[in-house]
Amino acid sequence: MIAKYNPAEIEPKWQEKWAADRVYEVREDTTRPKWFELTMFPYTSGDLHIGHWYAMAPSDTHARFKRMQGYNVLHPMGFDAFGLPAENAAISRGIHPYTWTMQNIDNMRRQLKRMGGCWDWNREVITCLPEYYKWTQFFFLRLYNAGLAYRAKAPVNWCPRCQTVLANEQVVEEGRCERCDTPVMKKDIEQWFFRITRYADELLEHHSLHWPERINTMQRNWIGRSEGVEVSFDLNHPGVETKELRVFTTRPDTIFGVTFIVLAPEHPLVEKLTSPECRIKVAEYVARSRQKTEIDRLSAESEKDGVFIGSCVTNKFNGDRVPLWIADYVLLSYGTGAVMGVPAHDSRDFAFARRFKLPIRVVIAPPGWSGGELREAYVNQGTMTSSAQFDGIPSEEGWKAIADFAEEKGYGRRTVSYRLRDWLISRQRYWGAPIPIIYCDRCGAVPVPERDLPVLLPPDAEFKPTGESPLKYCESFVNTSCPRCYGSARRETDTMDTFICSSWYFLRYASPHHGEGPFEQEKVRYWLPVDQYTGGAEHAVMHLLYARFFVKAIRDLNLVDFDEPFVRLFNQGIIIAQRQKMSKSRGNVVNPDSYVAELGADVVRAYLMFIGPWEQGGEWDDSGINGVSRWLHRTWNLVLEGEDIAFPGEKAENSDAARELRHITHKTIKKVTEDIERFRFNTMVAYLMEFTNYLAKASAERAISASAWHEAIEALLLLLAPTTPHLAEELWARTGHSYSIHNQCFPVWDRDLAAEEQITLVIQVNGKFRDKIVVPVSIDEAEAREIALSQPRVKAYIQGKEVTKLIYVPRKLVNLVVR
Ligand SMILES: [Zn+2]
Ligand SMILES: [Zn+2]
Repeated sequence: MIAKYNPAEIEPKWQEKWAADRVYEVREDTTRPKWFELTMFPYTSGDLHIGHWYAMAPSDTHARFKRMQGYNVLHPMGFDAFGLPAENAAISRGIHPYTWTMQNIDNMRRQLKRMGGCWDWNREVITCLPEYYKWTQFFFLRLYNAGLAYRAKAPVNWCPRCQTVLANEQVVEEGRCERCDTPVMKKDIEQWFFRITRYADELLEHHSLHWPERINTMQRNWIGRSEGVEVSFDLNHPGVETKELRVFTTRPDTIFGVTFIVLAPEHPLVEKLTSPECRIKVAEYVARSRQKTEIDRLSAESEKDGVFIGSCVTNKFNGDRVPLWIADYVLLSYGTGAVMGVPAHDSRDFAFARRFKLPIRVVIAPPGWSGGELREAYVNQGTMTSSAQFDGIPSEEGWKAIADFAEEKGYGRRTVSYRLRDWLISRQRYWGAPIPIIYCDRCGAVPVPERDLPVLLPPDAEFKPTGESPLKYCESFVNTSCPRCYGSARRETDTMDTFICSSWYFLRYASPHHGEGPFEQEKVRYWLPVDQYTGGAEHAVMHLLYARFFVKAIRDLNLVDFDEPFVRLFNQGIIIAQRQKMSKSRGNVVNPDSYVAELGADVVRAYLMFIGPWEQGGEWDDSGINGVSRWLHRTWNLVLEGEDIAFPGEKAENSDAARELRHITHKTIKKVTEDIERFRFNTMVAYLMEFTNYLAKASAERAISASAWHEAIEALLLLLAPTTPHLAEELWARTGHSYSIHNQCFPVWDRDLAAEEQITLVIQVNGKFRDKIVVPVSIDEAEAREIALSQPRVKAYIQGKEVTKLIYVPRKLVNLVVR
């Protein structure tokens, strides 16, 4: 009787042994190629859910595969530990955010260890600990000194419920708070920003990266670079000093079609240019638009509303008087806060002109245009018309000609505009890294000297969500002395956006215990950049863009010598259940712990990889995971039972069965290797299943040689090792191999053995030899028939005749009987 497969017994046993033997600890080794494989570190929300497993088990498998291929693999794990949920838990449950966070980390670490990952736990990084955030503050100071961090008053997104400022990215559909779904408002306060816009052009470049094109496109759209011309309109208004109004346009070729101009309601000229009779209407409109979010204002669905302010400017190109309107779809922060209305050639302007009965003047003639009214805006290229000396030229040329003309005459200049805004990093909350700035009445804003870092979070703050940082009410924190004049001073009480913590954590893994700086240069030079990064696509425009900016910024400060943090990126899909996204309210949440307890971590790992293409995700299904469990039980039995079978020895070495087994073994090695390399884990598991089925059949027939059998089993265990590390280790030991399978080389296929064996098939027509063809040995009758009938020489003999019968002798011949 063989032993029973009992994951609950073998899995903890090996996990303890691997940890005790430090199997997965790594250090720099210049004799081997390095490989930095990183999964986005989890937020310390409390419990590891199935989505975490889905993100981590396949990437762990890939990292293990790279280890076995001989790479020196850095595969670390850590925790993104600052942020709102901890503070909200403190408020609602009366637990200190530190306690809540560290309890969650303990639990998540336990769950992660139970997954059997090959993480080097010596390198764990926790962003909320002073030994980490000291360096987050260090980077802030370096960026500040380089002019990349600055303070400015700006309208910000404000969630009245969370009582905090939100980044644009945190405002989701319909202008609601990402966390609590409350409509977001606008508020002006002094904020800290990182000057990410300085890197806009470089961030548009993805050519050195192996990233999904979808993510690159999302980043490009987010940055939103557009080339255009800033055109100046004549402004002659009593009491207004400035004599021009600047308007940014990406379509200078339509300048002769301008019939109105729209200003952002908060444009500084609105107040001065509003005529007395329009004052009340305008004031009402401005007040109304203040209630709206940027997202609402830009939404394509919302009706384009606006108000005439009672003044005009002059179009220098044709002398036209152009009325000024305000409308909240124009943002002060984009371009110049003023846009020209060209209703004939812009859909939004067209709707606006129709609504307010403004003229629509065609200046780009559509092909075949008869001169009639347009039924909708014509936004494509065409021929310039009603545009004075530019008439008759194609609009693409007109774009350049008008831009040149504007620059020559001083009517405007070419410029580039971006949708990307500077990164707002201030948070009026407690649970984040304090911004290391001191305000002194005499010296102004003074950076905390690096030697005084970290600026510690006081443990005794109150967590009332007042809209101001809880640190403001913590006198022992606020009151300090000025580092310059030693007079009394106050500390900045805002904390940093947690996305800063996650913009550099991958650097910390290279030397996680280093006390003299954020990292040891030499170690970063050895390990970075990250070779393979994996995580969810929801991070396309926040984390992934911020981390790229961060690396470029500190590169320019000579702290690192590479341009990009993540060379390769893979986004996994999501796991759903009962055809829906998992959520507590739907009651369809899959708890990984219970499945691990019942079926084992290896089964959960293998099932998640089998469920579907990793980038697409899949649907959790209990019958599916039970099938995978049965497969691993069968595999266990197959391997151990095989130990007791006396397979024929040398005599059988050259038998067809032994040859075929070797061929299948090497073919499987090839397919599994290629699949793991391309993250095609589902087909990889399918090949392994096929292989075990084949082995079961071969073992029952007993015609194979003992050595072919043992080679096959050895290959099977090595191929399984990255996916089911515990099962593979246990069977490796039980089949008399030396510990540890995870320090073995991944098998390499023999090209000749893996190649499909070729045979020569004779083709006869009515029993006479007519041709011969070389085909794979695995060919079946239908395939043989099809190939035989398609041979030109055979066709000549059967032309115009009917094939009445086909005689197929496997591996030998096809005889076509024709009449
Ligand atoms: Zn909120
Ligand atoms: Zn001072």
